[in-house]
Amino acid sequence: MTEVQTNNYAFQEIETRWQAYWKANKTFKTAADGTKDKFYLLEMFPYPSGRIHMGHVRNYTIGDVFARYKRMRGYNVLHPMGWDAFGLPAENAAIKHKIHPARWTYENINYMRSQLQKMGFSYDWDREIATCDPGYYRWEQLFFIQMYEKGLAYRRESPVNWCEKCGTVLANEQVVGSGVCWRCDTPVTTRRLKQWFFRITAYADELLAECDRLTGWPEKVVTMQKNWIGKSEGSEIHFPIEGSDEKITVFTTRPDTVFGATFMSLAVDHPLVLELSRSAFREAAVLAFAEKENREKRSRIGGEDFEKEGVFTGAYCLNPLTGRRMPIFAANFVLMEYGSGAVMAVPAHDQRDFEFARKYGLEVVVVIQPPGDKLSPGNMTEAYVEEGAMVNSGQFDGMNSNEAKKAIIRHLETTGLGKKAVSYRLRDWGISRQRYWGAPIPIIYCDTCGAVPVPEKDLPVVLPLDAEIDETGRSPLPRLSSFVNTTCSSCGRAARRETDTMDTFVESSWYFARYACPDYTEAPLDRAGVDYWLPVDQYIGGVEHAILHLLYARFYTKVLRDLGWLNINEPFRNLLTQGMVIKDGAKMSKSKGNVVDPDDLINRYGADTVRLFCLFAAPPERDLEWSDQGVEGAYRFLNRVWRLVTENRVTIAQSPAVINVFELKGEAKALHRKIHQTIKKVGADIEDRFHFNTAISAVMELVNDAYGVIGLGDKDPQTLAVLKLAIETVIISLSPFAPHIAEELWQTMGHKELLSSVSWPSYDEEAARQEKVELVVQVNGKVRSRVEVDAGQGESEIKEAAISDLRIKEWIKEKEIKKVIIVGNKLVNIVV
Ligand SMILES: [Zn+2]
Ligand SMILES: [Zn+2]
Repeated sequence: MTEVQTNNYAFQEIETRWQAYWKANKTFKTAADGTKDKFYLLEMFPYPSGRIHMGHVRNYTIGDVFARYKRMRGYNVLHPMGWDAFGLPAENAAIKHKIHPARWTYENINYMRSQLQKMGFSYDWDREIATCDPGYYRWEQLFFIQMYEKGLAYRRESPVNWCEKCGTVLANEQVVGSGVCWRCDTPVTTRRLKQWFFRITAYADELLAECDRLTGWPEKVVTMQKNWIGKSEGSEIHFPIEGSDEKITVFTTRPDTVFGATFMSLAVDHPLVLELSRSAFREAAVLAFAEKENREKRSRIGGEDFEKEGVFTGAYCLNPLTGRRMPIFAANFVLMEYGSGAVMAVPAHDQRDFEFARKYGLEVVVVIQPPGDKLSPGNMTEAYVEEGAMVNSGQFDGMNSNEAKKAIIRHLETTGLGKKAVSYRLRDWGISRQRYWGAPIPIIYCDTCGAVPVPEKDLPVVLPLDAEIDETGRSPLPRLSSFVNTTCSSCGRAARRETDTMDTFVESSWYFARYACPDYTEAPLDRAGVDYWLPVDQYIGGVEHAILHLLYARFYTKVLRDLGWLNINEPFRNLLTQGMVIKDGAKMSKSKGNVVDPDDLINRYGADTVRLFCLFAAPPERDLEWSDQGVEGAYRFLNRVWRLVTENRVTIAQSPAVINVFELKGEAKALHRKIHQTIKKVGADIEDRFHFNTAISAVMELVNDAYGVIGLGDKDPQTLAVLKLAIETVIISLSPFAPHIAEELWQTMGHKELLSSVSWPSYDEEAARQEKVELVVQVNGKVRSRVEVDAGQGESEIKEAAISDLRIKEWIKEKEIKKVIIVGNKLVNIVV
């Protein structure tokens, strides 16, 4: 007997060695190559928070499997990684740990990069970008200037959260609990500051229309995008203010109810509210309400379930169609950010208005009657919001309310009282942040010239790193004279820099394009690179980004297209949103204390086991329930694969190179078939919505079957050849999931080339075909039918096939089956 050397599965040594090899040899470096089909695979880049967590591990493992698989399929794969490096947490950490945000960020990046490398992800690290690098954000500043020149970036006054005690603006995340400052618990108030906006609403129509072409996106994400854009059709109607030349213009989707409008509701911060209440001597009451509202609105963000309240301004407007005097209220359910900040109130046909009218004793006028019913203000317990027959509506009485919509719009247009209109829920994107750790907005303010963009040749406006971080979180930039003081590029006089920085969502709106040419210094984007690589073919990330990040990236892509930098309409062709990692019934989080640290797992089991577990435990779009047994199981399986290869390596080394398929018999033939079935299934499962779990199951089955023939074919060269093919198929098909062990075993098998450069095997449909056997089926000993079943089926499957045969069913009908006798693989006798 031959002495077979089998060492143990030394995952630590193997993984470290292969990672060093991939790194030193730049194995996954990519270059544009017009002769090959490209595949751009991207996972949403992480925020450098300090350590990667299991959510990252899962997200990036899913991406890596697909990247490796596509490479083996012959694609030129772009698979980059970088850092969404600006943002508030760096400033918070700076305050807490007394460390500069830049140092904190770069130290985190270095640590997290090493963690990602320990997972064996096949990134082209030469394309790494960090958005806090001036070489990155200088281009963002250029885009800003170009957008400014096209009117796509503009400045207007807008409310911000303000802490009086800290004397600083707060981000939404810093307003906590019942609307207090995260640092000092002072109730947060609202201040109005001049801020910069991107005119995303100019693209609302296109963003909405192209939703229907995002066929590679999950339907729920497309729906969320559509709802966020929120197009509604209706009309604008002007309501003249009594005793004034001014009028209030509202947008309504229900012009059919205008005859029932009995009062007007304005947002509390609507500019008219103070003006009107002042002249009506109601200012004190209105101010008191506004203050109360200011305190309370923060605690109900996102909810509709709050008491509808308001205050009378003392002023009236006139219903343009009925002439009715309508009292004007400031109401807490009207938002300045939506529509015009004014709502015509129709209590009979709108529930919020109904509740409001009941609370304040306001008039209810029914203008639509339900079919077969007769509503009156006295018998209504809720608003009637459906269609019906028009009443109390002058010349429109008797019409169906849907038809009346059109007729009333026509009437408004001919009388000049209003017009047909479209409204979007989407608001312009406020990008000003009164924070330090972000990309400076490249604008200079001059007393003579006003706002002047920084000339292109002076970019980047570098974020000064010598700033002292203030304990309150207040941005140090306005007090940093070396930064603030400058000269006007237009008139040469002394001027001041804008000290606001850009929302970090701006950086993540175009990073995917910069990966195509990360080192290009002539311009933000190198057309040759972006035209070859874009759009992203597969984007992968958390569903929490389903709205803002994806919408902003879509908007920015269209802007860059219109500025001539890109030649695509949409950035992401296919999107996969993966589920969360759950432990003990809740999402892993520090506060819940149910966090599993990837580092610990890697040290204990190796990266391949961690990867395999993440992939095997659940399909990507579902939540992954953490299980220690699952991790153990993945580890045991890899050990089993390790032994399968190392223990049989010598025996199968002598096997013939060619398998003579027609000579195969019995177990060898079955294993040969299983090999082709496995190749077929693994490929199909990976491509079909990333069903990695069933793909891995298939490899596991092949491993079992391979073990099953060991020993049987000691003397049969053909059996050994099939066993060798089975083992190599296991290694290849496992390689996208567990790349280190696969690469190692591939070398063990005597191969010289890298497994990463091996082509994905093709399967032979004929060889994969399941053999069938024909069974004779008898009922009470008489032949009644014949059925075909897969060879090698168990008794229960054979019984099931026989009983469910249609002709047999006819013979059995209602009779009770007493016994089923199976004779060999040939005959079934059903006794009834
Ligand atoms: Zn404070
Ligand atoms: Zn000037």
